[in-house]
Order: sequence, then C-alpha cells, then structure tokens
Amino acid sequence: MENAALLWEQVKEKARTANKIPDSVYEELLKPITEVYKETSTTLVLVVENNLVKFRIEKFYSDLLSNLYSDLIGENKRIKFITREQIEKETGEQESYKTNSVSSTDVLKSQRKLRPEYTFENFVTGKSNRYAYLSSLKVAESPVATINPLYIFGEVGLGKTHLMQAIGHYILDNNPNCNVIYTTAQQFVEDYFTATTKKNPEKMQEFVDYYRSADVLLVDDIQFLANKNATQEEFFKLFEFLHEHNKQMIITSDRKADDLENIMSRLKSRFCWGEMVDIQKPDLELRIKILQNKLTSLITDPSLVSNDALEFVAQHFTNNVRELEGALRRFINYCVSFCIEYSLENAKISLDSIIDQPSDEPDEIDFKNITSVKKAVSNYYGISLSDLSSASRKKELVLPRQIAIYLIRNHFNIPLQKIGEHFGSRDHTTIAHACGKVEAMIDTDWTVKQDIDNIMKKLN
Ligand code: ADP
Ligand code: MG
Repeated sequence: MENAALLWEQVKEKARTANKIPDSVYEELLKPITEVYKETSTTLVLVVENNLVKFRIEKFYSDLLSNLYSDLIGENKRIKFITREQIEKETGEQESYKTNSVSSTDVLKSQRKLRPEYTFENFVTGKSNRYAYLSSLKVAESPVATINPLYIFGEVGLGKTHLMQAIGHYILDNNPNCNVIYTTAQQFVEDYFTATTKKNPEKMQEFVDYYRSADVLLVDDIQFLANKNATQEEFFKLFEFLHEHNKQMIITSDRKADDLENIMSRLKSRFCWGEMVDIQKPDLELRIKILQNKLTSLITDPSLVSNDALEFVAQHFTNNVRELEGALRRFINYCVSFCIEYSLENAKISLDSIIDQPSDEPDEIDFKNITSVKKAVSNYYGISLSDLSSASRKKELVLPRQIAIYLIRNHFNIPLQKIGEHFGSRDHTTIAHACGKVEAMIDTDWTVKQDIDNIMKKLN
C-alpha cells in the first residue's frame, strides 16, 4: 500500500508535468488525493472527498491516470475512486449513524436514524431562525429542565427537521446511552396501524413499549396526525406518559399548534405547554451564508466560486433552503460536468430552466393540477378518464373517483365547487362527502392508504 501511494504520487506528477491536466484541475482535484484505500490484482482504489470529485475525475481522467499507472508498474491496472461516505457504509453503518438501543421488529420501523449532517455545527443562523436555534440548543443542553415540549414550526424546507435532529445528535454526543427516538407523524400512524391490524396484543404492547422507552422523543411533521383520530388518542396517551416521566419531547409542524386542523384540542393544548418557536424564510444575507457553508462540503476549494455567482443563486431562490441548496448543487454539477468556471455567467445558464418564469394564470394551474391527478388515478386503476369523471355509480369507478377528488382537494387546495365542475358537475357537498369518505378509509383500510401513496409517488 505504501508503495502504491508512492507510485500514485509519481502518476500525479507525470499527469501534471506532461500538461495532460490543466493546472487548476490538478490543484483542485488531483493534488488532494493522497490516500490509497486498497490495491488488488486489477485495481488501485483511492480515497476522494466526495461524489463530485469522484464523478468528475472518473468522467474525464480515469483512462489517463490508469494508463500512466499501468505504464509505471508494467502491468495493467485500473485506477478507481471511492468516497469517504462509501467507505463508512462499507465498514458498517452503525458507526457513522447514531441509533437508539431498542431492538427492531417490523412494528418498530420508526426506529429512525438521525442524518449525520443535521448538526448544530452545520446549521447557519440569522435573524429568521436564531430564536429557534437558541431554544433548541437550550433543550439540547438541559433536556426536560426548561422547555417541554419544544414545538418548532415553519414552512417547508426551512430547517425544522435539521434543528430537531441536531438536538438529538447533541444529546447523544453527551450521553450515548440516552434513548433518542426520531419519528415522523406519518411513521407513527403507520406503526400504530401495523400494531392494531395485526390483531395481536403483543404487537400492540411492543408498539407502546417502544415509544414509551424514549428518553427523548422527536416527532416530525405533527400536522400529519390530522383526521387520524385513533392515532391521536394513542399519541395523547404517549405524550401524557412521557411528560409525566420527565422525558423530553420535540415536535415540528408546518403551523402553530392553534392552527392545526382536525387535531383534537387536548393535544393542541399540550403542544403549548412548553415553548413554541418559529422559523421564518431566510433573508438574503442568511441565504448567502448558507450557500457559503454548503459550498465547503461540495468542493475542495470554495474560493473558486465567484461571489456574484453565489449572490445570483441567493437572489433567485428565496423561499426555501432545500431549493436554495438544490440550485447550488445544480450549478456546481453543471460546471464540474463541463469542466468550466464557477462564474456568474455559468450560474445563469445552469439555472435558467428552474428559475421562476412569470407564472401561468391561476385557472390554468388548477386545470393542469386537476388533469395530472386524474391521469395518475386513471392509469393506476386502469380506467378511462371519461369513466373517472362520469356520473356512473359502478363500484369499480366510485373509489378511484373519490380518491382523485380527495387528492386534488388535499394537495392543491382547489375549491370544492371547482372540483365538482371537473367531475360531471357534481355539487360541492358531494365533493366534500367524497373527501370525508377517503379520509375515514385511510384510517381503517390499509389498501386505500397504500393506493394513495403509490399514486402520490407517480404524481411526484
Ligand atoms: P424542514 O424540515 O423545515 O422542511 P429541513 O430541516 O429538511 O426543512 O431543511 C431542508 C434542507 O435545508 C436541509 O438540507 C437542511 O440541512 C437545510 N437547511 C435548512 N436551514 C438551514 C440552515 N439554517 N443552515 C444550514 N442548512 C439548512
Ligand atoms: Mg422536515
């Protein structure tokens, strides 16, 4: 291996001096690669920082480097690359991810892992999220003592899950034996459903015991408990139990507890017992800071990216950190793929197609959304679009029609009356009835829920 590392250094030097690789590429890509992962009879595997480096070097320089290496040792060998992330995966996920200690069964699918990068260190703060950040840190430093539950709310993609998991990491770092359970409300609903439909008291007990074993319970996106009355009842009992036993709870939601719809008021009032903090949209200054921070994990030398390019990205992606990061990744990938500079000009070109153009008329958008749901549902059930919209009461058409109506109402928030117009001029009470029917079925009929999930996947 040591020998291979020395030979690799010679290969790099050869590639550079023979002008086979531009200086900037050498400095940024090749020079930092110094570690040999393994050598076999056919390959030499080197360690690279991230996927981008791997992608870029494999795409453009793999043959060149393999040939240089083969020439040097006098036999044929391929040079390959592996990222640190892949190595971590290979050497066992347990070490790189923190999990809680309870054993897993099919009921306990919600035994979630925390994403390693969702830490306080990686969370960039500004006016819009500082208070939420400080409260989270307070809870992480002294669970239960101050705020219980901590309720974090805000629109999608603003960092709620990140902050919540940062608390989990922090607590585990200080106390590895602490049983931190992360789950989403959807997962909780699913676990409860599995436990009850098995009609097996042991499964139910297992479910209850699992969640009650938490020292710290993180529940993401609580708004998804809406209309799930039986699950809410169960969650209420869990909340009471954990609170009584001085266990910390952290809850996130897309809105204030008071504004949660179709969630029992007993629960909503419990959510207000601790502290409610919100995260707002980031301002320009924070967006730029977030981009700068993200860059360090994307490329080895962030200074290669021009400031006006970053500012351009920050100016055009204003609503949501996830989209902001996505835009940055797209821009960087584009430049890497074509081996071009990270300039303002290239930022504009790479993002052109995803920067908001003046939007369509609202009516047109509704029409598009309604049509796309109808198509997805009719494809899924193998029925025609006209049957789906017709007045026929045939059994095989009624359920798909109700599901289509439910999806349109819930996901695009289109007025009942307007939906009616697209389903054979049905009146709004019929549409409301269809939505109610499906909501009730989701709670009681596993196959309906599964159908909806599958259709949603197609839609997305
Ligand atoms: P939410 O749960 O509110 O929908 P997430 O926590 O999933 O949002 O955040 C979306 C993405 O944006 C994640 O990749 C997260 O790491 C990132 N993110 C959000 N806020 C920040 C921040 N202040 N600093 C760094 N990254 C952030
Ligand atoms: Mg989230």
